[in-house]
Amino acid sequence: MRPEDFSPSDQEHLLPSPGGDMAYRCLDCGAEHPISELLYTCPECGEVLLLVDRAFDRLKEIPGDRWRRILDLRRMLNLPALKGIFRYAELMAPVIPLDSVLYLGEGHTPMVEASALLKDAVKANFCFKNDGQNPSASFKDRGMAVALSYINYLVKHQDAGQILSVCASTGDTSAAAALYAAYLAPEVKSAVLLPRGKVTPQQLSQPLGAGAQVFEIPGVFDDCMKVVEHLADNYQVALLNSKNAWRILGQESYSYEVAQDLDWDLEGRVVLVPIGNAGNISAIMSGFMKLMDLGIISSLPKVVGVQSHHADPVFRYYSEKDPGKRVWRPVTVQASVAQAAMIGNPVSMPRVVALARRYEEMAGGERVFVVQVSEQEIMDHMILANRHGHVVCTQGGESLAGLLRAMDSGVVGKDEQAICDATAHHLKFAGFQQMYFEDAFPADYGVKPRPELVNLPSEVAMLAEDKLPAPGKPLEPEAFGEFVEATAGEIANRLGLERR
Ligand SMILES: *Cc1c(COP(=O)(O)O)cnc(C)c1O
Ligand SMILES: [Zn+2]
Repeated sequence: MRPEDFSPSDQEHLLPSPGGDMAYRCLDCGAEHPISELLYTCPECGEVLLLVDRAFDRLKEIPGDRWRRILDLRRMLNLPALKGIFRYAELMAPVIPLDSVLYLGEGHTPMVEASALLKDAVKANFCFKNDGQNPSASFKDRGMAVALSYINYLVKHQDAGQILSVCASTGDTSAAAALYAAYLAPEVKSAVLLPRGKVTPQQLSQPLGAGAQVFEIPGVFDDCMKVVEHLADNYQVALLNSKNAWRILGQESYSYEVAQDLDWDLEGRVVLVPIGNAGNISAIMSGFMKLMDLGIISSLPKVVGVQSHHADPVFRYYSEKDPGKRVWRPVTVQASVAQAAMIGNPVSMPRVVALARRYEEMAGGERVFVVQVSEQEIMDHMILANRHGHVVCTQGGESLAGLLRAMDSGVVGKDEQAICDATAHHLKFAGFQQMYFEDAFPADYGVKPRPELVNLPSEVAMLAEDKLPAPGKPLEPEAFGEFVEATAGEIANRLGLERR
């Protein structure tokens, strides 16, 4: 629908109008800094920042039910700037005018209910939200849409000149950064740093295809990150890692969509998300709190972060039940199939701690949990889900494995409905499926295939080489007929088909 097709009363607030009073706020010393400069850490104390809208309370002049209607009506619009996550512009980055919004098809990813058989098999009621259906095939596009829209705004309206964006990545951040930056060429160029051999071939192909400069660095992600931080501290570059607080804002859209898809009713709902650098779980908590603050939802869902036992610093931190005794210790990671979350020193940890505390204050009780799962469980549950019609990556398998862990430990009850974040597209991680099926995992993963989940192609070549068709060498009609009959007969035999 066009805006003018709505009734006059519905036209009010239908389009977000730019506004707000945004600033970077330090999570440690509380200092605020203007957004005119790109900042990643507090110039005063070095801690990570969040972006806040100091005029957020103006949004409370609109009652919650009116907000729900506005956001639902916006779904009917065909304006490119509002087709993606900027439908929630006021909640994320109202300072970005719609003419600067970059829309590449991100957001509004489907929430798919688990098949009846799968629910039965794992004895849980849940769905997957398929964030792999974003343009670069992971949820990272949500954050990049906001970060690069802001950069676009700086270029278009603030004479920012040429910008070089850089990021370190476990694969998906660089894919998303390179894609969105490429759309803004030539004003924006991008460079990405990857841990050599620690991203999948598909993930490596993405920034290469988008024309980014790609640098492979020895070590793991945490080492790459240090190099990128050094670059950001000492050179003129725009950092696109999740230290970039604009990205966190974009990733809040995950919460807005979950809430909207459930008709704003989050009672008895649980959201499960894998934790790597901890940007996503930070954004998800922040997003739900904003909805609550505006009266758009009336209860906060449980949030369960999931980590592999091979990269579990956040789990270890929260496994100490007494908040006064918790000690933050980064860990050295081991090989993980949840490679996109294979991070031992998450940069957003201070955000998690601050936001989880506020979240539980707002909810009036325990609502944030972190569970740990094994590499084996991650693989088994990814494959199990995909065998039931889902499209789940290893991190999505981790979400599902985490749900079962959370149910086992009593954190989630049988009557609750879970939303498991399938954070990337399965195809990016197809190599892990192959290793599982071929029983070819290097020992350090500790993964052994469950025979009933293995699936391998079986070759059908019944005749001698010269009786088989080959490219450029068609068979004579009679020989071809023999080939078709023999091959079909063998397949029918293996499938146990009856003749008709
Ligand atoms: C980045 C990423 C994660 C981890 O998210 P964080 O925000 O770093 O915690 C999980 N899954 C996939 C597919 C990712 O790309
Ligand atoms: Zn500070």
